[in-house]
Amino acid sequence: MKLTVIGCAGSFPGPDSPCSAYLVQAEDYTLLLDFGSGSLGALQRHIDPYRIDAIILTHLHADHIMDACPYVVMRRYAPGGPLPQIPLYGPTGTETRLATAYGGAGETGCPSLSDVYRFHTLTPGQLDIGPFHVTVDEVAHPVQTFGVRLEHGGRSLTYSSDTGTCEPLRRLANHCDVFLCEASYLEGRPNPPGVHLTGREAGETATKAGAGRLLLTHLVRRWGDPERTLAEATAAYAGPVELVESGAVYHI
Ligand SMILES: [Zn+2]
Ligand SMILES: [Zn+2]
Repeated sequence: MKLTVIGCAGSFPGPDSPCSAYLVQAEDYTLLLDFGSGSLGALQRHIDPYRIDAIILTHLHADHIMDACPYVVMRRYAPGGPLPQIPLYGPTGTETRLATAYGGAGETGCPSLSDVYRFHTLTPGQLDIGPFHVTVDEVAHPVQTFGVRLEHGGRSLTYSSDTGTCEPLRRLANHCDVFLCEASYLEGRPNPPGVHLTGREAGETATKAGAGRLLLTHLVRRWGDPERTLAEATAAYAGPVELVESGAVYHI
């Protein structure tokens, strides 16, 4: 598997990164995990955007879904004619949310986005998407949110999405080769429970799960301190750990 970090900025885009979006590729198949603000632009540095085969939206917060709207324009109005539907997996309510964000019916006479997306509602469990064996489970966040584990060719990648500490996250990360885990918060602040992880909590989860490598993402750099986040995680996890950057590529 090849992981390309398109966007890793937490909660809002930063000067150096769009919001959450990750390309995962295997066997010439491309899966996009989340489609956050600004990511459709940065994505084009790495891939022809028409080559995405499927999309998973882990939850319906704006920083994980918004560029699914301009992508409608890109596919529906392509000069060579509309492109075929692309599978899009998301939580309950995804189609309504995206259609509302896009602007609804009227301007095109198209009552929904179903000409562009073939919507699938995620439920906890396992499914196959292209060559990937996928496990999803609900993690701890104020809205329905799915952590994702991808397996291919005996290798595994777990993506936390946005979450507080929870047992489903540890299970998803169990002995994964790479754990792409959010670390939005800093220790020592009045962080509300069940929303995001600190670097320490990400490191502790990686340790409990026996993850092979920890990649920290979704840092809110304007409000935080990346070096402190990295130090917190390093103190709690003995394996290799780093902060991801937009454009980083990992071979798993
Ligand atoms: Zn987020
Ligand atoms: Zn969120």
